[in-house]
Amino acid sequence: MSGNAGVIIVGAGECGARAALSLRENGYRHAITLIGDEVHLPYERPPLSKQILLDVTEPKLPAVLSDSVLAKYAIQHICGASADAIDASGKQLMLSDGRAMPYDKLLLTTGATPRRLPNAPASSRILYLRTIEDAFALRSLIRADMHVGVLGGGFIGLEVAASARSRGAKVTVIEFQERILKRGVPEPIAEAITALHQRNGVTVKCGVTVLGIEANEWRVDISLSDGDEMSADVLVVGIGAQPRTELAAQAGIAIDNGIAVNECLETSVTDIYAAGDCCSFPHPLYGGRRLRLEAWRNAQDQGILAAANLSGAAQSYQAVPYFWSDQFDHTLQIAGLVDEGCLVVRRDLGDGAFILFHLDDDRRLVAASGVGPGNKIAKDIKLSELLIARRVTPPIEALTDANLKSLLPRAA
Ligand SMILES: Cc1cc2nc3c(=O)[nH]c(=O)nc-3n(C[C@H](O)[C@H](O)[C@H](O)COP(=O)(O)OP(=O)(O)OC[C@H]3O[C@@H](n4cnc5c(N)ncnc54)[C@H](O)[C@@H]3O)c2cc1C
Repeated sequence: MSGNAGVIIVGAGECGARAALSLRENGYRHAITLIGDEVHLPYERPPLSKQILLDVTEPKLPAVLSDSVLAKYAIQHICGASADAIDASGKQLMLSDGRAMPYDKLLLTTGATPRRLPNAPASSRILYLRTIEDAFALRSLIRADMHVGVLGGGFIGLEVAASARSRGAKVTVIEFQERILKRGVPEPIAEAITALHQRNGVTVKCGVTVLGIEANEWRVDISLSDGDEMSADVLVVGIGAQPRTELAAQAGIAIDNGIAVNECLETSVTDIYAAGDCCSFPHPLYGGRRLRLEAWRNAQDQGILAAANLSGAAQSYQAVPYFWSDQFDHTLQIAGLVDEGCLVVRRDLGDGAFILFHLDDDRRLVAASGVGPGNKIAKDIKLSELLIARRVTPPIEALTDANLKSLLPRAA
């Protein structure tokens, strides 16, 4: 470290909070300031589409850090203030409340924001889901006599659909692609998830576009390309998220589908790092391909790695991408990157659970995806992650029924 101004972390979400804790755990002795534009303690987002919506009692903020931990670790948390500008040459950060804060090193963990529906009318019945306020607003509208429309058959839309249906609401999912989960999820898994929703009474409409929306403070009327005129009490829009890059872009930091960082999570400007949903990074397991992940584990792992590098290490980010989603009593998990054109080998695990192994042209295992009730697929996905990390080229027959653990020593 050059001076004593310390580290400032912009964005008090999963990644920023994890980075702040890790810095102290690594023995960092100077000031750590965590700045967030939300008014809360840092909190987890995965429960927002699941437990918070399902909880019939009054749910609490799923906080990641408490005030006592912040005090114990001497982390200054400034909440309800946004960082508006970076003076990279003077090493200062300007806050919305007028403060200018000096830093030695800066970490940007600004996350992502839901993609907005163009030309949608203003209505409190058209909702997005990213913050705890969004989740509470949606929760208050989910009742058994309500019709919940969900625009977008991605993870967030489908989790909301499952939660709303589990609370007894009538639910319709509208997806413009010919199937749900088109991005990064293989077709057999999307089919299993569609069947799961249909079994539970969700209407899933694919290949259907929205022709028009009219809304007031009580209902949303949607004209669909299949001729249906749908009336919903609430419409949840889950059509993807965009990285929050505005602060970085204003400072002249390179942007490439997110704040562009190198394998050590350094941006194009000296002493400024970025991590989590907001950044894109090259991944050595996938030929250095630049990825941007919106996944809880990635936010955690990159926060930890950024903290190590802010403290003087020069570690490169190599973690196998991992994502999970809970819908009804099923869990879907993906380790690695699912690409078109891979050889796919299926392993059945009973009770309808299965895993797909994805092998590249050299027969290297590059991804494993699976779905099943409870934690039926968890162990095999965990083992697959280890095999992917070790760049294993497994015998194909072994993938269908051998104990995956037995494939590990070959890789060691
Ligand atoms: C509803 C929902 C369900 C999810 N479920 C899953 C799941 O089941 N499995 C999974 O793997 N992942 C899931 N995710 C994704 C996971 O939660 C995210 O990948 C993770 O939260 C990313 O953490 P982050 O810290 O990078 O960004 P965020 O959590 O978005 O935190 C960024 C913070 O920075 C703040 N900020 C931005 N700009 C500024 C600024 N200029 N000044 C001050 N503050 C700023 C933002 O307001 C925000 O508080 C889910 C996400 C959502 C929204």
